[in-house]
Amino acid sequence: MSTDLAAFPPVRVGHGFDLHRLEPGLPLVVGGVRLEHDRGCQAHSDGDVVYHTVTDAILGALGQEDIGTLFPDTDPAWKAADSRVFVEAARHRMNEAGYALANLDVTVILQRPKMAPHKEAVRRNLASLLACEVSRVNIKAKTHEYVDAIGEGRAIACHGVVAICLRPADR
Ligand code: MG
Repeated sequence: MSTDLAAFPPVRVGHGFDLHRLEPGLPLVVGGVRLEHDRGCQAHSDGDVVYHTVTDAILGALGQEDIGTLFPDTDPAWKAADSRVFVEAARHRMNEAGYALANLDVTVILQRPKMAPHKEAVRRNLASLLACEVSRVNIKAKTHEYVDAIGEGRAIACHGVVAICLRPADR
């Protein structure tokens, strides 16, 4: 691993965002947790907005394009895929580049069902997938105050910001 800090700054930041339509009769998977609901995500994969957001945030921090470019929804390999594979791929790229996760902050925006009972499970799922301490991951949840598509229950969205740092051995 290069120690050229100009090319590889010790800390990099990435942002991720995702949104999926919610349609009746589909499964709703958020951060690897299946939520009880009468609607779920319309998507090529399992439509997990949290995992897609985190994947994009890490890829963004690495300067490596985005989830749609690396895992196109025209590729049958990703049909109904468990989105954990995308997070694992992003983590692998992060490790290959010599970085480790410093911290991750995620905001899920969903009118219903309530996310609060599931936040800790999502946090633990992400910490496990990213092989980091739970304390490095934070999950927040908001409604959309009943306005627009998310507030009317027709969509779910997620924002995430990640900081990654060069591993000490690579500094
Ligand atoms: Mg998505």
